[in-house]
Amino acid sequence: MISGSLVIRNGTVVRSTGIEAADVFIDGERISSVEPPGSETDFRGEVVDASGKLVIPGAVDVHTHLDMEVGATRSADDFASGTRAAACGGTTTVLDFATAYRGESVAQGLVTWHAKAEGRAAIDYGFHMSLTELTAPAEDVVDEMSEAGVTSFKLYMTYPERLMVSDDVIASVLKAAGDRGCLVCLHCEDDATVARLRREALSSDRTEPRWHAWSRPPRAEADAVARAARMAAEAQSACYVVHLSSADALAEVRNVQEAGQPFFAETCPQYLYLSAERYEGLASEAARFVCAPPLRDPQHSEELWEGLARGHLQVVATDHCPFTQTDKDRGLSGEGWADFTGIPGGLPGIETRLALIYQQVVEGRLSPEAWVDRCCTAPAKLFGLYPRKGELAVGSDADVVVFDPAQERPLLAERLHMNVDYSPYEDVVVRGWPELVLCRGRIVARAGEPVGEPGWGRFLSRGPSGNL
Ligand SMILES: [Zn+2]
Repeated sequence: MISGSLVIRNGTVVRSTGIEAADVFIDGERISSVEPPGSETDFRGEVVDASGKLVIPGAVDVHTHLDMEVGATRSADDFASGTRAAACGGTTTVLDFATAYRGESVAQGLVTWHAKAEGRAAIDYGFHMSLTELTAPAEDVVDEMSEAGVTSFKLYMTYPERLMVSDDVIASVLKAAGDRGCLVCLHCEDDATVARLRREALSSDRTEPRWHAWSRPPRAEADAVARAARMAAEAQSACYVVHLSSADALAEVRNVQEAGQPFFAETCPQYLYLSAERYEGLASEAARFVCAPPLRDPQHSEELWEGLARGHLQVVATDHCPFTQTDKDRGLSGEGWADFTGIPGGLPGIETRLALIYQQVVEGRLSPEAWVDRCCTAPAKLFGLYPRKGELAVGSDADVVVFDPAQERPLLAERLHMNVDYSPYEDVVVRGWPELVLCRGRIVARAGEPVGEPGWGRFLSRGPSGNL
């Protein structure tokens, strides 16, 4: 007889490696057994019937910006509202970008982010550390953070005012991280190109959001990716490109991967679903879609979907960095924006990723296994959480989503739980939505609504980056 607290019966279990009909048994916070359907009749715990449903690992979102200061404003979701929304959409783990700003130690940066999250998160969370300068040897920084359970680092190749680091810093962090099994995440946009085009646009009074996109062209992203790949090769380290947005950059990634280098890339739903046409309307509406890299022309999305299906893009994350319409209007100064450089950049998405990517499964262009892999398993592996997260196996955390493939849901702001007053996908009706979401054995969302009090989520001390 299997002891335990809950069983999910009669579902179709989808893992990155295959599909099977199975019953998933949970004992406390862990998965205790996975059995052929109906094989255990004496179970005395709670029973969830998942007939006609998919049973998948809780999704892992490795790119969020919760409660982050941006100029005079801050991202609209904190760890309470953001993780509650994530849970409603089937995400049970987030990795947020803690940041050590210039003049601050990495330890201070980490303390600040722990204070933001502690006791507030509805689901489990971990941190990357964004470095904006190096005031100590890279080896020491990497060692210190690894001991604190932070085994990945983010470096920016743009945003010179606050975030960008030199290629020297990138090279030394790549080397130190690689030697210690840690992963470096890079924001790839060539800042020299961006700075030049920005100046050119502003000097001829081209101030509207469309010029934001014009000043950050696909070529600037592709050039930066190529530079990152060269530095990673020299350091003999793996490297992970965040929010890849263009066909040009994807082509670079593909070349590097085909040459045998351990080089990974994520994309985000906004680059798969939305295009630069969003910058053409009223300036205040276009501002909602300002993010960096910017939205591209539609042909880029097609290539990205293809890259996702073929596995050149390993991960879909969200880059969830929401602002309300009012905050977008108020701009970075808090007093309204005069040109595109004053618009806070970022889109909401922490709640909608799993269902949006599932639409390609509905259309037969992505296998169910690849959907689970890109949204759940591969991110857990790359960021040192596997097999605790991202897998349905005995001993894994009982992070489980019962996904109803028949449910239809319009992605309207009023149906979602992110702390924003617009939805980038308000014209989209998805087919398929999480019916039940468990994080470490506890129900955190049911029928797309949050369940339970915030504070269930725990900090995840992560191990070394794993292989795919
Ligand atoms: Zn980001």
